[in-house]
Amino acid sequence: MAQMHPHAATHTTRRGSLLKLGGLVAGAVAGGTALERSTDADAAGTGPAAVASGLVTCVLTPEATEGPYFTEGDKVRRNVTEGKPGIPLALRLTVVDVSTCRPIRGAAVDIWHCDALGVYSDVGGQGTEGQTFLRGIQRTDAKGVARFRTIYPGWYPGRTVHIHTRVYLGGNIVHTGQLYFPDRITDAAFTRKPYSSRPNRDPRNSGDSIYRNGGSRSSLRLTKSGTGYVGTLTMGVSRS
Ligand code: FE
Repeated sequence: MAQMHPHAATHTTRRGSLLKLGGLVAGAVAGGTALERSTDADAAGTGPAAVASGLVTCVLTPEATEGPYFTEGDKVRRNVTEGKPGIPLALRLTVVDVSTCRPIRGAAVDIWHCDALGVYSDVGGQGTEGQTFLRGIQRTDAKGVARFRTIYPGWYPGRTVHIHTRVYLGGNIVHTGQLYFPDRITDAAFTRKPYSSRPNRDPRNSGDSIYRNGGSRSSLRLTKSGTGYVGTLTMGVSRS
């Protein structure tokens, strides 16, 4: 249980920056741009002209705490599973610049999350020191897309199901956030092994204090693929 508290504590200290970022979005709307809507960077009509005309506004992905389980030096690799059992999850994460809605090529996307039983690699208290499962980095391609092969995360007390992410550009952190999952899909996924050995996850999205600060704007769109899912999300980041 002690592991849940650092999230909440860190979240409080991060609140200022979160509100500041929220203010940027609100300011853009007040400045006369059109209704915000998510957009895939490769969809028709994006780019600076569309942004200037107000037809397209990229959504700034909400910042969130990196939590207590971040580790430096994750491996550059697409498949992060290391044989961990779970429902296959392919991630397709697109990074776009919120000031232009253009995809960002060459950004480094770092992900890390717990296994199907709620355990992170490289955590002393969990007996996984020195292990590296379910952590990895990929660079975005010309379309701004970083791809990973992983498993559907499990859960641990105090947090809804999530994947941590950081986006680096030129060695700088331009985004720290969390990716979420629709509750109804998690409910279905968790009826399967090995997730089903730990029923009654708590909390769900609506009961998670970090999710409540913009989590719906950082939720994966999931589609079925074979025995698993493909999860997609466009992450709007600010270069400065
Ligand atoms: Fe976490």
